[in-house]
Amino acid sequence: MNYTTKTPLSDFFSSSGLLARRFEGYEHRPQQTELALAVHDFLLDPAQSAMAAEAPPGVGKTFAVLIPSILLALTREKHILFLTAGIALQEQLIGKDLPKLRSLLGKSFTYGLLKGRGNYACLRRSFALQGAYLPGAEGRAPLDLRRWLEETESGDLAELSLPAGHPLLFQASAGARGCLGAACPFRGRCFVVQALREAQDWQVVVANYHLFFSHILGGKGSFPVRYDWLV
Ligand code: SF4
Repeated sequence: MNYTTKTPLSDFFSSSGLLARRFEGYEHRPQQTELALAVHDFLLDPAQSAMAAEAPPGVGKTFAVLIPSILLALTREKHILFLTAGIALQEQLIGKDLPKLRSLLGKSFTYGLLKGRGNYACLRRSFALQGAYLPGAEGRAPLDLRRWLEETESGDLAELSLPAGHPLLFQASAGARGCLGAACPFRGRCFVVQALREAQDWQVVVANYHLFFSHILGGKGSFPVRYDWLV
């Protein structure tokens, strides 16, 4: 049985509910249901603007927050910005939790991971590196970078699988230092611009605290991607 619009929220989390039937090893935890209902009620209450909740590890906080948030976001055409502390949880969300929820809900919602700009290749800097000698880098690295730039769709430097601290990662990075902005001849193909443009359409954007607060507190203005609810 799949979710329908008439499925009570508590039915997701009960010992014989949708999660139990769909996911082997699922354990009913009353605190998870309590948290999910609290999030649901909070989102429906226009008088409330912020909610704080605390639960120990193992309660299933991610699903308790995401299920009511996504269900309501879909019916109200809202966009969710989900912040995490580190890459491990981001990868779990993108690689496991959100695909599972999409299958469970039988709803086609869009989501993606927005990394900090320093994680993407800067085309201008990368092309300037061609033929350059980089101390500490293997001689082929700039050539491999050039080949990769012709194939990659995201420009995410992690696709290069270079060891952390490799000089190429710094030299080719689109970190704000040296970005020409609107004056850049590569602006139309810039991976940072492309990532931000794609993220505008995602209904669930996953990002990290550092990226968010570097915009909010760092004098860069508002966060560059639209969101209605911040988790
Ligand atoms: S707009 Fe900035 S980050 Fe993008 S390619 Fe140009 S210099 Fe690099």
